[in-house]
Amino acid sequence: MDHFLPNILVTGTPGTGKTTTSEMIAEKCGLEHINVGEIIKSNKFYGAYIEEFDTHELDEDKLLDELEEMLKDGGKVVDFHTCEIFPERWFDLVLVLRADTSCLYDRMVERGYKKAKIDENMSCEILQVVLETARESYAPEIVIELPSNTSDDLESNTDRAEQWLKAWKQNNER
Ligand code: ADP
Repeated sequence: MDHFLPNILVTGTPGTGKTTTSEMIAEKCGLEHINVGEIIKSNKFYGAYIEEFDTHELDEDKLLDELEEMLKDGGKVVDFHTCEIFPERWFDLVLVLRADTSCLYDRMVERGYKKAKIDENMSCEILQVVLETARESYAPEIVIELPSNTSDDLESNTDRAEQWLKAWKQNNER
């Protein structure tokens, strides 16, 4: 996409800290946070309920149409646990958050996730599914893996995004 500000994708297994991190990046960098899960819910972009995973099927076409419009001017921090459904051209930076299994387990228990969902997410994180998928879906040089276990991690990840944005602006002056 040709735009005045970049779009950043923040992805990772549920519970790794995407929403928390995206909000902080957006606030510190003067960008707008887009929580894709909330957009799906509020627009009811889903089909059948899958009981085993306590989740709904996603209507990808409707979601992508909506997001295309929102992202066209740039300046967005997009937060979602799946990264391969988006067109590669949408994003200038892809941050993949990683959490240690003990951290992640505690966060999911606190959220009241069902056992099947906890198990699925734990194996997803252990097998680094999101990281590998991000590396297959985007240019490897724009994909950055970041630890997201502590508040220090949160701060340094936000600082890192801010530095990156500064450099992006210098390289894309018009
Ligand atoms: P996600 O959007 O990936 O599902 P959230 O941002 O909702 O994850 O975070 C899940 C929980 O973990 C929240 O309670 C949040 O406060 C906590 N959390 C997120 N990132 C960190 C971090 N870097 N250090 C400590 N706690 C964190």
